[in-house]
Amino acid sequence: MIGKFFRQNFMDKKFRVFATCDIGEAIGLLRSRGYEVEVYPRPEAPAKSLIVEKVKSGVDGLITTLRDPINAEIFEAGKGTLKVVAQFAVGFDNINRADANRYKVPFTNTADVLTEATAEFAFFMMGTLARKMWAAEQLTRENRWGYWHPYLPFLGDEVTGKTVAVIGTGRIGLAFIKKCVGFDMNVLCYDPAYENHAFVKTIQEMNDFRHANGFNKELAWIKYVPFEDALRGADFVSVHVPLLREGESATPTYHLFNEKNLRLMKTTAYLVNTSRGPVVDEAALARALRENWIAGAALDVYEKEPLPADSPLRDPAIADRCRLMPHFASAARITRLSTDPEKGMAGRCVQGLIDVLERNYGGDVTKMPYVVNKEAFAK
Ligand code: NAD
Repeated sequence: MIGKFFRQNFMDKKFRVFATCDIGEAIGLLRSRGYEVEVYPRPEAPAKSLIVEKVKSGVDGLITTLRDPINAEIFEAGKGTLKVVAQFAVGFDNINRADANRYKVPFTNTADVLTEATAEFAFFMMGTLARKMWAAEQLTRENRWGYWHPYLPFLGDEVTGKTVAVIGTGRIGLAFIKKCVGFDMNVLCYDPAYENHAFVKTIQEMNDFRHANGFNKELAWIKYVPFEDALRGADFVSVHVPLLREGESATPTYHLFNEKNLRLMKTTAYLVNTSRGPVVDEAALARALRENWIAGAALDVYEKEPLPADSPLRDPAIADRCRLMPHFASAARITRLSTDPEKGMAGRCVQGLIDVLERNYGGDVTKMPYVVNKEAFAK
């Protein structure tokens, strides 16, 4: 009864929220709880000065995406009023964690609900790249398909039965591996911080079962190996790491795929990156493609987004082996917009915001499942 009274009292306060983009019906969900929500109406990101202005006006919560730089300037503007930043993404490299901690502002993300969508997109990108789907469709559309021929005008490479290196075996890396099982792929795993041997054992048991029951002729395998061995041994390399700059980790991922490491890959191998753009040195990759150090690359993310008009990755000379997607891996209907926090980024984003503002979990931020920077609140 007392709890109910306090909760009611709490709910009488009208929370104010600024969302830097529209996240669909979930905004209505907040409004139905009495929140006053202002949504930036344009599709592109608002200027940082506008976010500062809104925060200065005293909003309790901010809904942000990976396009919004959230750092000390924002936290200073919201000193004493800004209580939570709810990020509509799993990656949060746009949020300065040290600054958030210094100002004691919890921020949330939308992990898990986009894992399968992102992993399947990475898998489809791998197939699209290797089987030259884009070039093949262009041929048909442009009416240049003049004959059926054993090898002209080009051939692609099979995915089935090949070896894939999975760089980063967190949520999305492991989900990606699950997709690879159905294609009888061998898997080289690399992760300096998190080796999930129980998962690897289960996948091997599945491979054993499939082989024993005649699903595949060759027995597929999976193992953890050092980074260089993963690159040297793979036909495909799929990247699933967070962006970690120098000083943010003992094993930073900024420009992990630089000239030195790209040169370790087989000349017949393909690179797939759905993680974050700055993980790949794009100038080095463009050279790798032009000079055939590797066979191809499929990218969903870039050092600068949207991809600039003068990017070397747009070079027509490499268009047949360079697939370019518009940061689209999580862009599936339910994944993006479901208001169910167990299914959609929108639902999880607003639930993270509600947890903090309405002091769920007894107001203990360290117990709130979607808060990222719990370390700032540990007693
Ligand atoms: P996660 O934290 O579960 O997994 C990341 C893994 O990378 C961790 O296991 C970590 O130990 C590992 N790692 C850290 N440094 C590494 C290094 N130097 N080398 C190899 N591995 C390293 O995160 P997740 O949910 O799997 O998401 C991964 C990333 O994917 C996100 O941070 C985000 O940037 C990106 N992402 C992109 C899209 C998209 O639309 N393209 C969608 C979702 C996520």
